[in-house]
Amino acid sequence: MKIIVLKFGGTSVGSLKKIEKVVKIVISYVKKKYKVIVVSSAMEGVTNELLLKTQNIAKNFPEEEKDVILSTGEQIACALIAGKLNDLGYKSRSWLGWQIPIITSGNYSSSRIIEIKKKNIVNYIKKGGIPVITGFQGINNDFRITTLERGGSDTSAILCAKFFKADKCIIFTDVKGIYTTDPNLTKSAKKIEKISYEEMLEMASLGAKVMQPASIQEARLNRIEIDVKSTFSKKNGTIITKKRNILHKNTIRGISFTKNDAKLTLVGVKDKPGVAASIFKPLYENSINVDMVVQNISPVGRETDLTFTVKLEDLSKTRKLVEKNKSIKFKKLIINRNVSKVSIVGVGMITTPGVTFRMFKALAKKKINIEVISTSEIKISVLINKKNLKKSVEILHQEFKLSSSL
Ligand code: ASP
Ligand code: MG
Repeated sequence: MKIIVLKFGGTSVGSLKKIEKVVKIVISYVKKKYKVIVVSSAMEGVTNELLLKTQNIAKNFPEEEKDVILSTGEQIACALIAGKLNDLGYKSRSWLGWQIPIITSGNYSSSRIIEIKKKNIVNYIKKGGIPVITGFQGINNDFRITTLERGGSDTSAILCAKFFKADKCIIFTDVKGIYTTDPNLTKSAKKIEKISYEEMLEMASLGAKVMQPASIQEARLNRIEIDVKSTFSKKNGTIITKKRNILHKNTIRGISFTKNDAKLTLVGVKDKPGVAASIFKPLYENSINVDMVVQNISPVGRETDLTFTVKLEDLSKTRKLVEKNKSIKFKKLIINRNVSKVSIVGVGMITTPGVTFRMFKALAKKKINIEVISTSEIKISVLINKKNLKKSVEILHQEFKLSSSL
């Protein structure tokens, strides 16, 4: 059995017209002799509307009930797809998470799929049916409906590919694939033909919004090859592949950036063991993710400045926690909301010397000041003033010749 998983995102099923297009795509794969499993997200905007309802009716809306409501968006989209397929003469039905079942564990609103029971779906496929499975949801040990993290229908699709041993998983979305950088920021952005999981994971975590980062991690762990393409174009998309050493003439595969970071600097903290831990402990306890960190030795000697970044939405909470933290002393707290993080990503940098130098030199040439730096094996991130964002991305795109990349 040649099984293929076709996943459609919210924009792809955003209207009845678009759902008709989706159904045509499904039929085209049936005609290519694939056994098709469809996974769908909710119609565009629906999950947000449902969320708003829970927020407007109660201050402390129970998590369990929130998941029951939020999961309904997918139910509608799947029934519409299955209904239309039947209308055109194809055997199809919707499958809700609990009907399969898709078993999850963990907290409501951020559950994880631990198993997808195969029997029902496999029997249905063998009888010639096209199952249309709701993404983003499952059922837990207490027999209650759960949802995954927002954007989680990508993960549902990838795990369907894993449990049903699909040959392929195609993610249909509203963009033509993964780009070297955001095409909305610069015209020089180019579509990437192939990218490794590791690079894609960095790109997604760093702000490229095409796929949910957790889903790429699942694909990587389970070695599932993904094709990302547009519902509205026949052109090839981007292949996310297990082949880490894909032939590539460029060292850098792409540039991501964020616009929603904030920088905090604690001036004049004591330079002794345990101080950094005391600063970050309450942040950890309040689930605030600290991103970049840098510590300077200040000329005074026994004092230092400590700078770190958090998401803008966490800024006011972070500020309060730092200000009321009795276990640390500092002279001043400086806050900067006008920062952006720009990152270059590429597995090629592991084996190519001089990438850091080229990045810094290119920015220096344009007189762009680097405020904080952080690196991993396959990425280098710098924090810069937000007003220089476009300029920085363009100069780095040029420096690493990404316009000529494939
Ligand atoms: N409908 C859900 C959301 O909006 C899941 C998804 O789109 O992947 O988060
Ligand atoms: Mg999505």
